[in-house]
Amino acid sequence: MSKQRQPIVGFVGPMNARKTLLLLDHIFAAEAVGETVLVYKPQVDDRFGVGIVRSRCGGTHEAIPVPESPQGELKAQSSFILDDILKNNKKPTLVAIDEVMMFDDDIAEVVVSLSEAGIQVAYAGLNMNYRGEPFSSGIKELMSISTRLEVLSARCTYSHDGIHKCGAPATMTQRLKNGEPDSYDSPLIVIEKFATEDQKPVFTYEARCLTHWSISGTRPQKTTLP
Ligand SMILES: [Zn+2]
Repeated sequence: MSKQRQPIVGFVGPMNARKTLLLLDHIFAAEAVGETVLVYKPQVDDRFGVGIVRSRCGGTHEAIPVPESPQGELKAQSSFILDDILKNNKKPTLVAIDEVMMFDDDIAEVVVSLSEAGIQVAYAGLNMNYRGEPFSSGIKELMSISTRLEVLSARCTYSHDGIHKCGAPATMTQRLKNGEPDSYDSPLIVIEKFATEDQKPVFTYEARCLTHWSISGTRPQKTTLP
């Protein structure tokens, strides 16, 4: 007897858009009614410690760190989730995945397998990279097969005087290198680094509206409007 496909719920948007907060809320709501939840996140994302999902707005949950994929680019190995469940005979009702854009391109296939095996899936992550492009083909595919998708916005934190902030709806993630817009040609995944004493290049991210989001360097364009 085949199992019924289960819902696939996504929370996407730029940084600071409450993606992880809503994922945690989804997890806690499932646990409150006795469901078994497994949470996965990329091992490479160590900003808040390995093995924990934390929202900037508050709230934490234990997470299983997913090792790096052989596909490279610091991405996490999507198939690890299926292996972990099968090899360890785990029986989750819900699998939650944080920072989903940092998984390799097999992530959509893995999520469909989970859904078809009778397991609900919820995920959170950036829909676009700092270049304003879809973060990965994995996230593009995942967004299109989701049964519920919330595209969230933040508030623009651009400031022209260091005091007042724009505050408009922010849909973009701005990467800054030493405080200046980063170049198009920089690596796609760079984990946020704050100022260090040795003054090496420092990468930070801010939520920005379309007016205040910018990128240096040249974006390859197939079609140019006049
Ligand atoms: Zn703005």
